[in-house]
Amino acid sequence: MGGQEQEFVNLAFDTNWIAPLGPNVNGFENDISQYANVGHSAALSSGTAAIHLALIILGVRRGDDVLVSTFTFSGSVNPILYMDALPVMVESEPTTWNIDPQALREAIEDRKRLTGKVPKALILVHLYGMPAMLDELLAICKEYGIMVIEDAAEAMGSSYDGKKLGSFGDFGIFSFNGNKIITTSGGGALVSNNKKWIEKSRFLATQARDKAVHYQHSELGYNYRMSNIVAGIGRGQMLVLDQWVEKRRQVNQFYRELLKLYEGIEFLTEPNDKYYSNHWLTAITLDPKQHASEDLRLHLLKDNIEARPLWKPMHLQPIFAKYPYYGNGWSEEMFAKGLCLPSGSNMTEENYDRIQRAIESFFS
Ligand SMILES: *Cc1c(COP(=O)(O)O)cnc(C)c1O
Repeated sequence: MGGQEQEFVNLAFDTNWIAPLGPNVNGFENDISQYANVGHSAALSSGTAAIHLALIILGVRRGDDVLVSTFTFSGSVNPILYMDALPVMVESEPTTWNIDPQALREAIEDRKRLTGKVPKALILVHLYGMPAMLDELLAICKEYGIMVIEDAAEAMGSSYDGKKLGSFGDFGIFSFNGNKIITTSGGGALVSNNKKWIEKSRFLATQARDKAVHYQHSELGYNYRMSNIVAGIGRGQMLVLDQWVEKRRQVNQFYRELLKLYEGIEFLTEPNDKYYSNHWLTAITLDPKQHASEDLRLHLLKDNIEARPLWKPMHLQPIFAKYPYYGNGWSEEMFAKGLCLPSGSNMTEENYDRIQRAIESFFS
């Protein structure tokens, strides 16, 4: 927490505004729209809910193909199955670790050949805060008429070509889950420049209640709205978001300095100055001929320092294994040799020292 969250939560209590909606929800939505420079936003219960509503509003139907990165968290893919649609998983490229434009084109062409149709939408993930190759990917989607949902759950505060991530797609989504760069304990947002779509998402997220004095419903609704209490935390977090991005970038710099002494280590790195990552998590790979990433993880754990494997690719997950996948298995290799290092926005000098000592002792 940054310090001012409690004030916004108290505001809700002081005005007895504990109902789901209220001034904190409106305030938080305005903050998000302004920050990401998008026209409209809806505060929701999670990032996963935001993707689900985006798919509904874009008119995805049972059996439709929806493209998505394989190298991501399951929250990117689950909503495709909520729609009874078909996840088409696409491999990443080694520069940004995000969806590979060439593999994307192959997937689209192959699906077109097999089904006679072009996939309906792409869920475009920016992994660990790193912007995907947006110029190339958006051009392909435009060429085929594919709608884009930008999954910026891990990338709030990152930008590409000076423009905040989340603002490039037909929709963007953010997550405020406990592990994300800012958090409301749990929550998410859907953003778009299309006012009608965001209004529709608020309608669907509050049980699709028709305009009537009584409770009347003609469409399937969901209970996906963020509450006024939780949104108070969000307003406070928005005040520190840029600071948190700065801190995460410092953490990344710390590891670069520390690890440059050792061979076989590579970082997820901004390829040029068009790319600006929030470095939500600092992610590295170790050359397996020199060190096993699992050995480093276990060595750190002995000191009660938690590092984690990279996301296990979706096409390797039992639940998604039966769906189409396009790629050369690159992310499987990454999963075998990669690690996310401790990257909190609240790392102290003592934390840095302890991590440094543990890493040095591993390599010696
Ligand atoms: C966290 C995350 C989500 C889901 O967000 P929740 O708020 O946890 O539902 C989706 N996609 C990615 C890439 C994520 O990291």
